[in-house]
Amino acid sequence: MMKPNYVRVIIDRAIQRELDYSVPDTLADRVGIGSRVRVPFRDKSALATVLATLEQSDAKGIRPIEALVGEAPAISESLLELAKWMGAYYCCPLETVMRSLLPQVIRRAEVGWKKQLFVQPLTKIDTDTIDNLRKRAPRQAELLEAIAKLDKPMPAAQLLRKTSLDNQTLRALAKRELIELREEAVERDPHADEQFIATTNLELNAEQALALTKITDALAAPEIAKPILLHGVTGSGKTEIYLQSIRTALERGKTAIVLVPEISLTPQTVERFKSRFDEMHDVVAVLHSHLSEGERHDEWHKIHSGRARIVIGARSAVFAPLKDLGLIIVDEEHETTYKQEEAPRYHARDVAVVRAKIEKCAVVLGSATPSLESYHNATTGKYELLSLTQRVDDQQMPLMRIVDLRQERRKEKIAPILSEKLSQAIAARLEKREQTILFLNRRGFSTSLLCSNCGEARNCPNCSVALTFHRHMARLSCHLCGHTAAVPKKCPTCAKDALIYAGFGTEKVESTVSHLFPKANVRRMDADSMTRKEAYRETLRNFRTGKIDILVGTQMIAKGLHFPNVTLVGIINADLALHLPDFRAGERTFQLLTQVAGRAGRGETAGEVFVQTYTPFSPSIQFARHHDFAGYFQQELEFRERCDFPPFKHAILITVRSEHEGRAKLSAETLVRRLKESLGAEFILGDATPAPLEKLQGQFRFHILLRGEAIMRLSRLVRETLDKLPLPEDVVATVDVDPYQLL
Ligand code: ADP
Ligand code: ZN
Repeated sequence: MMKPNYVRVIIDRAIQRELDYSVPDTLADRVGIGSRVRVPFRDKSALATVLATLEQSDAKGIRPIEALVGEAPAISESLLELAKWMGAYYCCPLETVMRSLLPQVIRRAEVGWKKQLFVQPLTKIDTDTIDNLRKRAPRQAELLEAIAKLDKPMPAAQLLRKTSLDNQTLRALAKRELIELREEAVERDPHADEQFIATTNLELNAEQALALTKITDALAAPEIAKPILLHGVTGSGKTEIYLQSIRTALERGKTAIVLVPEISLTPQTVERFKSRFDEMHDVVAVLHSHLSEGERHDEWHKIHSGRARIVIGARSAVFAPLKDLGLIIVDEEHETTYKQEEAPRYHARDVAVVRAKIEKCAVVLGSATPSLESYHNATTGKYELLSLTQRVDDQQMPLMRIVDLRQERRKEKIAPILSEKLSQAIAARLEKREQTILFLNRRGFSTSLLCSNCGEARNCPNCSVALTFHRHMARLSCHLCGHTAAVPKKCPTCAKDALIYAGFGTEKVESTVSHLFPKANVRRMDADSMTRKEAYRETLRNFRTGKIDILVGTQMIAKGLHFPNVTLVGIINADLALHLPDFRAGERTFQLLTQVAGRAGRGETAGEVFVQTYTPFSPSIQFARHHDFAGYFQQELEFRERCDFPPFKHAILITVRSEHEGRAKLSAETLVRRLKESLGAEFILGDATPAPLEKLQGQFRFHILLRGEAIMRLSRLVRETLDKLPLPEDVVATVDVDPYQLL
């Protein structure tokens, strides 16, 4: 490597400009692209990342770098290239991309290793020394005897625990210069106390074997291989294929990333990977949002140093600093949680495909219900499609029964939470000692508190939504901003004693079910009941061991869990997502029904699914009922094409918000006018309209939706237009490329 005279950097604080610095001789050997450095900036110093090394620079008043942070470059050149692509594609500054690329704890200068005190004999300790000591200080002698037996340094805390002796005794030995105490950096291992039972490759069935062959072919020739879409019904053995292809990648000296939605990153999932590669100590690193800062620091270094060669993680693990990347797997690729809802608003699946292209590695996207985008890419030949049509255990797909809530309503005057058919099915399961899952994607007890006299609902003062009543805390609460309020006795608007609770959530379902089946053990699993980390594991354990008969929950229970004794799944209201003002509403409903149904009948008994709905003939419900993915895909695709929606056009959603409604509106309208001037006719530009969720956290919101095929160009034009438009100080415009959140 040539010694650079200058470097071009971006500092962590977003100033949207690259700066040049000179490199002092003492650092010239060690500074390179991707290095982290400390530089003088204005009258302070700042942390920065090196983007390029230069022979010359014509910048004025160049100052030298102050220091190098960490030895090896934190970011590889490929990751930097990825970051630049993200900046251009997602229409956001490189500094913002860097925030996601490098975890906070790594960007800080101080290296956060955990320190531990280790004990070691200073000289060879003979029995005479110990005997001598025994007369004067028997406890010290006892400790010394234990230390004499050590063949390597031992953590002091561990030694004292083992011998039941105290710190004072240890210090006394050090003072006599018989032992040495030394501080050393150690790694925190979040999975330290877990034992794994090693597993080996299962014998694959024909479909699996074919899929594995295709993936290993891609591993062998990644520069010509297409991204692979692995479409396999729930329980078709996709994970087994992942495990075996990772094994192959490792044998060829490569590394692998497995992305899993945060919600599926359960101890069960991690265990499946750790136990398959158990003979290679430390080869698996896990990245998820529940790690402490220290744990994240240590996992990152374990990956960066090359010790960990498989990374399992949620969204941001797509940036794991692995070298020699051979394979990226994105499980449940259709999951919308892969999309980050704050800047940089990237989609980890799409970033994975681009990273694979840059690093020349294979990429596999797996799902039982692929996204329309990916499936479209597969049918048009951009991706290669591999299908697993059979469940490994040869089980039948569960029987889907549709319950028409309109008829139930006629029968009962008001629609019950549980239809008669569903309650009979539950009763039958209780009799047979089989388990039931009831699913409703809405928390709380009642979804609104209405006045039957004046018709007013209790709304959130900050957001344009009704407050939900939560019985466990006996308060009203806003699910968007967290605002809570006491439950009024009378209507605050008309002062009549006429308040009624309307709509229901999981809390009400739980209480209704407990009432109907007093002998059953009913438990609820949602963000309210699972606030403790332990509660989640405990509930799953109790459900697994059969201590819980009926589990009621939100999407928390919809994904990826294996429960062989669950033979009934009830979907309390399938229409919740369907009526959202979102072009993906139908797709989401179809996916949700298919995924939830996959929870039923994984054991020896066939499963049954009851879908309660007011719109029994909507296509997403009908196709899901017949497990007809291809049929669903076909009709949905026609709809998307007719309306110029993804995957036929890319979309960009601009949100303009402010505490002042008028100023937000005016800015949005001005922006639309400017965009009209700069965009060509190839792009579709919508008007500035109030967002479906007009007010959120005290801010009024306006939307502008743009669509077009040439997304890079559209992104650049939007950025340029925004850069030239000075917005009032209290108005903020955010840009979301390929948006998933249209509220
Ligand atoms: P998916 O990821 O598609 O839902 P899994 O890989 O979890 O499916 O497989 C479902 C179950 O079948 C798991 O318990 C797995 O161990 C088992 N399994 C997978 N492949 C095989 C196979 N070839 N032979 C026997 N059992 C298998
Ligand atoms: Zn609110």
